[in-house]
Amino acid sequence: MIVYKLGESLYLNITNRCTNDCDFCIRKNGPGVGGYNLWLEKEPTTKEIIEAIGDPTGYKEVVFCGYGEPLMRLQVVIDVAKHLKKTYPNIPIRINTNGQANMIYGEDITLQLEGLIDVISISLNAENAEKYNDLCHPEYGEDAFYSILEFARKAKNHIPRVVLSVVDVPGIDIQKCAELAEKLGVEFRVRSYEKR
Ligand code: SF4
Repeated sequence: MIVYKLGESLYLNITNRCTNDCDFCIRKNGPGVGGYNLWLEKEPTTKEIIEAIGDPTGYKEVVFCGYGEPLMRLQVVIDVAKHLKKTYPNIPIRINTNGQANMIYGEDITLQLEGLIDVISISLNAENAEKYNDLCHPEYGEDAFYSILEFARKAKNHIPRVVLSVVDVPGIDIQKCAELAEKLGVEFRVRSYEKR
């Protein structure tokens, strides 16, 4: 399933790949979310994604979310977002990301999202690098955590709303995570483990 509806939002599932292997990842808990099967037999092309979206008028937002890390396919995200902004300029676009894109590409990619993405929700998930590493098992080890903070800082220059989020799994110091978000000058949100 490439697109699926949750609440008033239209979600885009463009890859199952990810540089993390989080203990709480929904990919470990069955084939989908909300009754949708999100395992992709193959990654959809830009054209296939645009066709699957159709006319999103009536949705509150379009969200690159997936059952994996959408920015693994940066160019596809950019191309689909360009199409949406040109054709449906009033519909906000959000990305839910693990915040590791600058590590994945070895450069700051946040400028490429300017004018295309309205909200970026970055999974912080822990208050320090050690805990992040234990919980999310990133390919990049503890460096991933610091790069996420830097990614959030850089994203602020190009994206109107930047949100750091945590899942309320036991052992995470939510207050410290909130303080990190405050220091960075970005929004903060706690996601329910049960509902994600
Ligand atoms: S970052 Fe998201 S998609 Fe990747 S493993 Fe963690 S929960 Fe799953």
